[in-house]
Amino acid sequence: MNTKKTLRDIDPRERRVLVRVDFNVPIDEKGNILDDSRIRASLKTINYLIDKRAKVILMSHLDRPKGPDPRFSLANVAERLSRLLNKEVKFVPQVVGELVDRELESLKPGEVLLLENVRFHPGETKNDEELAKKLASYCDIFVNDAFGTAHRKHASTYGVALYVKESAMGFLMEEEVEYFFKAFESPVRPFVALIGGAKVSSKLGVIRHLIDKVDKIIIGGAMAFTFLKARGYNIGKSLVEDDYMELARELEVLAKSKKVKFYLPVDFVVATEVRDNAPTAIRAYQEIPANMMGLDIGPATLQLIREILQDAQTIIWNGPFGVFELERFRSGSVELARLVANLGVFSVAGGGETEALLNVAGVRDRFSHVSTGGGAFLELLEKGTLPCIEVLNEK
Ligand code: ADP
Ligand code: MG
Repeated sequence: MNTKKTLRDIDPRERRVLVRVDFNVPIDEKGNILDDSRIRASLKTINYLIDKRAKVILMSHLDRPKGPDPRFSLANVAERLSRLLNKEVKFVPQVVGELVDRELESLKPGEVLLLENVRFHPGETKNDEELAKKLASYCDIFVNDAFGTAHRKHASTYGVALYVKESAMGFLMEEEVEYFFKAFESPVRPFVALIGGAKVSSKLGVIRHLIDKVDKIIIGGAMAFTFLKARGYNIGKSLVEDDYMELARELEVLAKSKKVKFYLPVDFVVATEVRDNAPTAIRAYQEIPANMMGLDIGPATLQLIREILQDAQTIIWNGPFGVFELERFRSGSVELARLVANLGVFSVAGGGETEALLNVAGVRDRFSHVSTGGGAFLELLEKGTLPCIEVLNEK
């Protein structure tokens, strides 16, 4: 995957370059942009192509419209992008069709054209062959810079790459791949994984893959209770997946057989309700009261993790260690984030909620890399590769 072509391996001069970007920004009910970080993040790739005098054609999805719907139009995005680039961005209110054909004919080197939300076309999510071929016909080179959708085989992310003459990764995609590979293919050891979050069922594959790669694995979040219950402890009313206890036990056995140290939290912040002013207490893992649930890790667990991480050289983290959405149960995850940041070693974090947590904790910049792709990052952790990257040209 790190052998794929990058922007530096192509010659975009005066050629039509179709870039799949991730302009899936948060919007309000009226379609106003609430946060333009994703648009800003793609400027590096776009500016590079403009400077190289390419004819730049951009496409993206926005949210999950069931068909054409003005609220999800990329018209607002075109305007914002134009302001950020300080340059005209031509917008065509169509994904494929005559309007696009006409704009393409007059598109000059150094100019930028944005197509309408690809999900307005029914063929997009079905990875429709006709749509993919049509999109491919628009360009000489296809560049994928949308890491967040690289695990989905859609027409604009996957199908199109099958029919183009040449393809490459954009700068954002390249960065994601680079950090992932640095951690997974040649980690400086000890290599430690922190895995939290709500459900063990959604991360079985991730944990299995990590056991093959890391030296130590620390489980946190609600999924710890499935492991604890499988070990025979009472977990009170904590979130648990009874159907996965057997698999949890198997994972622990697998870790042991591969000589991977496997740790669970040793104490929790417990409460009877998941609400901000609920009374709380700290309880050891063997002493969770029957009517209470564990909603954050406690101080002894943080101390244990501090010791485990003392000699760590590479750290990978996915999944909050408590209900960080509520201030009451946030401090364990925030302290953990600070702890990792302060170690100053090679650290990669990712996951939808994990990214949000690191923003809340204010330490995002002090991690070596924080992935921008929630689901894509998880799939990369699980499978070691993503279909939309696999399909791109080798160097
Ligand atoms: P990510 O999106 O980073 O992969 P997940 O989606 O797996 O993370 O999990 C995040 C969710 O897990 C958060 O919404 C958080 O509230 C929840 N969570 C973490 N610890 C607990 C807990 N002890 N009890 C209930 N929910 C928890
Ligand atoms: Mg999530």
